Amino acid sequence: MQNISTLDELFERAIKTTRIIKNKNVLRHDYIPEKLPHREEQIHYFGEIVASVLKKDRCSNVFIYGKTGTGKTAVVKYVLTKLFDKAQSFGVPFKICYVNCRLAGTEYRVLASVCNALNVKVPFTGLAVGEIFDRFKVALDLHASLLIVVLDEIDELVKARGDMLLYELTRMNESLSWSKVSLVGISNDLRFKELLDPRVLSSLSEEEIVFRPYNAAELYDILFERCGLAFFEPALSQGALNLCAALAAAEHGDARRALDMLRVAGELAEREAAVKITDEHIRNAERRIEHDRVIDAMKNLTPHSKLVLASVYLLNKENINSAITGDIYEVYQELCELTAYTALTQRRVSGLISELDIIGLLNSRVVSMGRYGRTKKIRLSVSRGLVSKVFSEDEAFRCLIEYSPRCLTNVGGHKA
Ligand code: ADP
Ligand code: MG
Repeated sequence: MQNISTLDELFERAIKTTRIIKNKNVLRHDYIPEKLPHREEQIHYFGEIVASVLKKDRCSNVFIYGKTGTGKTAVVKYVLTKLFDKAQSFGVPFKICYVNCRLAGTEYRVLASVCNALNVKVPFTGLAVGEIFDRFKVALDLHASLLIVVLDEIDELVKARGDMLLYELTRMNESLSWSKVSLVGISNDLRFKELLDPRVLSSLSEEEIVFRPYNAAELYDILFERCGLAFFEPALSQGALNLCAALAAAEHGDARRALDMLRVAGELAEREAAVKITDEHIRNAERRIEHDRVIDAMKNLTPHSKLVLASVYLLNKENINSAITGDIYEVYQELCELTAYTALTQRRVSGLISELDIIGLLNSRVVSMGRYGRTKKIRLSVSRGLVSKVFSEDEAFRCLIEYSPRCLTNVGGHKA
């Protein structure tokens, strides 16, 4: 980048160089495009199910699942918005309530959102869940209406709180006289069904729709459509678009990631005052997104996972680049002492190590020790610099990265 001598110059340049991005809004996560390529089948099927609302009948409950970025939220919102408009023009009493359960966080807040859709005011905290349910039923029956409740990312709520709320919701029609409720549950986790009580599962999945990951060609079409809206005409080469689709397809066919890459690449190109988004911009965007993802993942770890990660970090700092669980556990116990946490058992710590492996912060591989059997060797899979950066911004755990574990300093020649 060239030197920019004055703020004036910088601002001038910001005005002049808007030739890449035409409309940033269409690259936002919550933007629903008019066209959703390669989801015609799911749109049609879901549309068929909910169409019974127009005949004033309750529609079946639907259970939708697929990995992140496969278009579940977009398809559901797209179809329901169209349905709502149709219902209004035909004068069918019909309401929709959309809740993202992960963002809502608790059953109480999910129910409060559902109540809000009926203009029932619920205090921020304090009521018993049963009481909210009662108010909700009374209000709904007064409206004499059909209601579709969309519970997006329902897997997150059930994992944290169990399926009591779902159970109550699926039974609600039994106690309504003039209104009917239908549920649309959306899960990013394909194994979510295993967590549900069989009664809840069977009523929630009267219908099921699966969203498969996109392949590179499909992602290309999605990106191509969006590019036309987001960027000025000559800003993006076909090569860069291909690369972006291929990178996202290699991950797990996640359209959100592909669109993120496109947005970041556009911003990078614009900041450099480039005339085009190149392959290089796409690659840099990918790196930046991955970097941010890793930092986010580290920041959001539970305290014990942070202690485990810090233990591997300290071993690494002592040049023990790949450690066995026992070594990590020793350091971990000291760090627990230091931070006044009660140490978990080695077995639990071993489980935390596997989780850290899955999110890509640690790497563990099983090595054969000949006649001594097999053992697991664990190392950091992100740079030590990155770990120390994140920890140094963490009030509670800042002290850990400067610590010298006794078990490492006392025993000479312990290094691997
Ligand atoms: P999910 O809910 O399955 O995680 P989303 O519906 O949020 O995925 O989709 C992720 C992003 O990708 C959104 O910005 C959405 O607009 C876009 N997207 C997904 N599928 C398509 C598609 N078939 N056509 C256009 N955009 C899509
Ligand atoms: Mg979603």
